[in-house]
Amino acid sequence: DPQLNPNYTFDNFIEGDCNRLARSAGYAVGAKPGGTSFNPLMIYGGVGLGKTHLAQAIGNEVKRTMPDKLVIYVSCEKFCQQFVDSLKNNTINDFVNFYQAMDIIIMDDVHNFAGKDKTQDIFFHIFNHLHQSGKQLILTSDKAPKDLVGLEERLLSRFKWGLSADLSIPDIETRMAILKKKMYQDGIELPYDVIEYVANNIDNNVRELEGAMVSLLAQSTLNKKEIDLALAKQMLKNFIKNTSKEISMEYIQKLVCEYFEVPVEMVKSKTRKREIVQARQISMYLAKSHTKTSLKSIGAFFGGRDHSTVIYACQTVEDLIDTDKKFKTYVQDIQKKLKMS
Ligand code: ADP
Ligand code: MG
Repeated sequence: DPQLNPNYTFDNFIEGDCNRLARSAGYAVGAKPGGTSFNPLMIYGGVGLGKTHLAQAIGNEVKRTMPDKLVIYVSCEKFCQQFVDSLKNNTINDFVNFYQAMDIIIMDDVHNFAGKDKTQDIFFHIFNHLHQSGKQLILTSDKAPKDLVGLEERLLSRFKWGLSADLSIPDIETRMAILKKKMYQDGIELPYDVIEYVANNIDNNVRELEGAMVSLLAQSTLNKKEIDLALAKQMLKNFIKNTSKEISMEYIQKLVCEYFEVPVEMVKSKTRKREIVQARQISMYLAKSHTKTSLKSIGAFFGGRDHSTVIYACQTVEDLIDTDKKFKTYVQDIQKKLKMS
């Protein structure tokens, strides 16, 4: 299948908390397309978090183990374009028959259906036909089905039938593992502290992470220099400024923990010891005010808490800043350090 990119496999899709459910559901679907309750399987998440990679990995896995299965990968945009063309050329039946003959349809970025009512109607019928015949549908989207706008209710309700699993931003360990895997694939080697530096500073999405490494390698080749940490910092300066939040949650956590001399793991733990709670609440407060991270992601980062915990933490910190001089100084000190970085 020319539409499937053979480089996107499960093998090189690094597992982490950020993708565990989506990855294992994808794996199950790949082993038994149409034969699980994950139909459709909807993989959703922001840009560059691995939706296309994972969706294609499922297709490639099916092709590898069941070469007779008809698998099509198509972006929603291309599907819409093909539909318009088939209307123009009077080949609408061929268009529908082609898709209805598939065993597996992987449709990427279905949020692009927004506003395209006629194409949605056609896809609704194709969807029903395939689903009723036990064929597999795999969809990706930038939002959960319940948050998609501009899509018809009946199509959305179908999207909610199976399983929706999200991809989120990988944590630092997963980011390092992704970089190591990529180095290994490309047959290159970078010093550990360079990998750590890149993984620490590029925390928007995986595509940027990989982009930073590629840019580093290109510059090192151009300048005929081995990459060490100092050089990496120098080379990535622009990249980091332009593409990434300057301050990451990891960095906030590190500063706060150093300041209060508490171990980093404790902040993410369940402990309610006073000094730990304080460090945790200040970290959440700073993450909210100094990063663009959502409350949900902040809560998840600091030990799998929900967004109401983050709201509560921020209120507590704000109240204490107003009423407790010493506390206010703590927070200001840490903020100064943050800004120096
Ligand atoms: P999306 O479709 O969500 O925008 P992509 O699937 O295009 O993102 O992923 C962007 C890049 O990041 C790709 O090169 C992909 O291989 C890589 N990538 C994303 N997640 C992972 C992961 N968990 N392990 C390895 N590579 C990943
Ligand atoms: Mg994509």
